[in-house]
Amino acid sequence: MQDVKPLVRVKGLRKYFHSQQGWFNKTPPVKAVDGVSFDIYPGETYGLVGESGCGKSTLGRSVLRLFDITDGEIEFAGQDIAHMSDKQLKPLRRRMQAIFQDPYSSLNPGMTVAQLIAEPMKIHGYGKEQRAERTLELLEKVGLKREHLNRFPHEFSGGQRQRISIARALSVNPEFVLCDEPLSALDVSVQAQVVNILQDLQQAFGLTYLFIAHDLSMVRHISDRIGVMYLGSLVEEAPAETLYTAPAHPYTRALLASIPVADPHVQMLDQGGIKGELPGAMNDWPGCKFCNRCPRAMEKCHSQAPVMQEISPGHRVACWLFEAQ
Ligand code: SF4
Repeated sequence: MQDVKPLVRVKGLRKYFHSQQGWFNKTPPVKAVDGVSFDIYPGETYGLVGESGCGKSTLGRSVLRLFDITDGEIEFAGQDIAHMSDKQLKPLRRRMQAIFQDPYSSLNPGMTVAQLIAEPMKIHGYGKEQRAERTLELLEKVGLKREHLNRFPHEFSGGQRQRISIARALSVNPEFVLCDEPLSALDVSVQAQVVNILQDLQQAFGLTYLFIAHDLSMVRHISDRIGVMYLGSLVEEAPAETLYTAPAHPYTRALLASIPVADPHVQMLDQGGIKGELPGAMNDWPGCKFCNRCPRAMEKCHSQAPVMQEISPGHRVACWLFEAQ
């Protein structure tokens, strides 16, 4: 990947949320994303995992510039989009789309399937014939039928609704798709079908995905590389296979150990999963943010924050245990 330019480049991204409680409010900001850097290359799937509340959805939405960021750099296809206005972003919106967790609340219940899929194309100026043609093409690609066109979202199962959301997101031919926990609301039996659809569409249209999930079992089969996030920071990043066979960060190891039917080798690493609660993102941490839950915490972990360093090609980790390597 080194010779290929990233499609998405994120550097030192911060997104803080400030409380709205008046002029003299001294409440510290919630540091939802706190200095995250990573690249996503054309045609790959970058999996992003972490517990609920770790900031991964905020990170995904920040990358798409669905809101203003606090600080940092975001490049999309070589363009600096971090501080672009809505007007400047408009021509790029078609190229960056999203699929969200709850397909029911993200689909207008008063619109038919045909209208839902065609709406983004209408917004982006596609002609009537083009819209009809593309709608039918996508309907077939996501495994729905022509007779579904005039039905409404409530007439479908959760899995079918997610297929409609996928067709809608892809209607305008994007290059990059944020998949924000698209499997979490679905039955396990349906999850594999949706993963297969996303993979087929990636092949067919050359898509690049940022795929967010709250546990590592969900991203295993779809991701080329995986980033592990903890309390607003990226703590480990590796090719998918490396992350499962040689996890380095104690948090990643604990996440893997908490998968019910995991690889027996990994189960042996840190039996028992993660201890304790995810601390609040308002806290200021002089040291490693994981130190109050880490079974291997040392003295310096409480006072100095580890920085990301490469421990093998493409494998980065932020942990003092790897300081000497
Ligand atoms: Fe644990 Fe220290 Fe590594 Fe943090 S830096 S994960 S506390 S060993």
